[in-house]
Amino acid sequence: MASAKEDNKHQGIGIVGAGLVGCLAALAFAAKGFSVTLFELRPDPKEVTNEKNLRSINLAVSDRGIRALKYVDAEMADRVLEHVIPMTGRMIHDLSGKKQESQAYGLFGESINSIDRSFLNDCLLDEIRHSDINVHFNHKLIRLDNLSSEEKSPKMTFLDNSESTESKMKSYEFDYIIGADGAHSQFRYQLQKSMRMNISQEYIDMQYLELSIPSNTKGDSKFHIDPNHLHIWPRHEFMLIALANEDGSFTSTFFSPWSVIESFGTSSDKFVEFFKYNFPDAFELMGEEKLKYAFESQPRGSLMQVNAYPYHNPNGRALIIGDAAHLMVPFYGQGMNCGFEDIRVLMELIDKNNGEVSESFKQYSELRAEDLKTISKLALDNYHEMSSKVTNGWYLFRKKIDNMLGRYGNGLFQWIPMYTMISFRGDIPYSKAVKIEKRQTKILNAIEVGTIAGFILFGAAKLAQHYHKLSNK
Ligand code: FAD
Repeated sequence: MASAKEDNKHQGIGIVGAGLVGCLAALAFAAKGFSVTLFELRPDPKEVTNEKNLRSINLAVSDRGIRALKYVDAEMADRVLEHVIPMTGRMIHDLSGKKQESQAYGLFGESINSIDRSFLNDCLLDEIRHSDINVHFNHKLIRLDNLSSEEKSPKMTFLDNSESTESKMKSYEFDYIIGADGAHSQFRYQLQKSMRMNISQEYIDMQYLELSIPSNTKGDSKFHIDPNHLHIWPRHEFMLIALANEDGSFTSTFFSPWSVIESFGTSSDKFVEFFKYNFPDAFELMGEEKLKYAFESQPRGSLMQVNAYPYHNPNGRALIIGDAAHLMVPFYGQGMNCGFEDIRVLMELIDKNNGEVSESFKQYSELRAEDLKTISKLALDNYHEMSSKVTNGWYLFRKKIDNMLGRYGNGLFQWIPMYTMISFRGDIPYSKAVKIEKRQTKILNAIEVGTIAGFILFGAAKLAQHYHKLSNK
């Protein structure tokens, strides 16, 4: 009798987008024996010499992402993750530029891990090169057809921009097709025309500008600041962050409302003055010239959220995953982690359904919806935490109690701090984490009220004692 893997060989999967999520999806389907073809708009990065294909963004890979990589191939996960830099906490930089304060992320020294996005993408593409997956670069998805047909296979039409050929349209048919073509997904656009799909898109009033701290060429360490922390300069309305790279440099990102950056007009001097006042230590490390160059020449990114539902089409032969299905703001460091988790969840369904892909696509939408909505909201809310709350006394007090209960009360009350659930406990779905957090928040609120009441009573008792002494004199 043929094995499940042998059976899968006869099923063709076409995936659009060789970004992080599309690459991992291709590897995951190939590992299960499916016949996989991957299409990508960009040229093969191996053939592009003097141009960086993707913008320089550092990502924090955490448990959900790592679990998915390991699920697909544990050895591959080790190879890919060999180059990460662990970050065990946030390092908060104050306005004077002289004080830094470490705030641990985990209860027991757990870390999230810094890695360059294009480097990670290249690693996954290298893994693909060593597999049976067919890859077509320079292929831009233009159209999807046969989406409502029960008899015909879904058809994808691409504009082939390979330099070797004249641009021409090419069509391919597959048993199943997957859109992993990111924020402005053409796949999603085509899919929603053929079915009843809800889509919401919301721009967030926030821009980001990529900056960089060079490596240290003089001291003992190649890093100017501690590489094992995610550095944050929280200034309420705006903030700066920095994540370490293997070569000793840091990729830094300045986030602000558009009105802040636009208030400088075209004057890089004004921007530098603002930067020097708000981030004096970062200013020293980056240097005036580099900042001016970044302000004048670097593109400013915009942030938006996209939510779609359902993720599959009615006949269960097309599906969207990753940013194409759930674009979120980057403040919880979960966009890619969640996209990788999409793949693990889908693969587990395919296993459960004995390789039945249609049924798995349908079940996937239902299973995933609440979790994806939840993490989009958490990501947005976390901006406030990163840019403001981390400097607030009450927040830090609550965090201490939260961590203490997590460390010592886990067995007894099943207490797990929210950050731990999201970043280090991929076995807890996002929506379940929020439910657990709600219960814990009630208890923390009671402790906070109790502490305030305690302080008031203590103060009142002291005052009464004082007056009592006075009246007895
Ligand atoms: P993409 O990476 O966008 O890939 C889509 C691919 O599809 C691209 O290669 C594109 O060229 C291709 N494509 C597009 N259109 C077509 C077409 N018509 N035909 C063919 N191919 C097409 N996530 C984290 O988990 N942790 C972090 O710390 C983190 N930090 C972030 C910081 C910033 C500033 C930003 C902006 C994002 C961050 N993210 C983070 C989010 C993360 O980058 C994304 O969630 C992730 O890259 C999504 O991967 P994807 O494969 O779904 O989409």
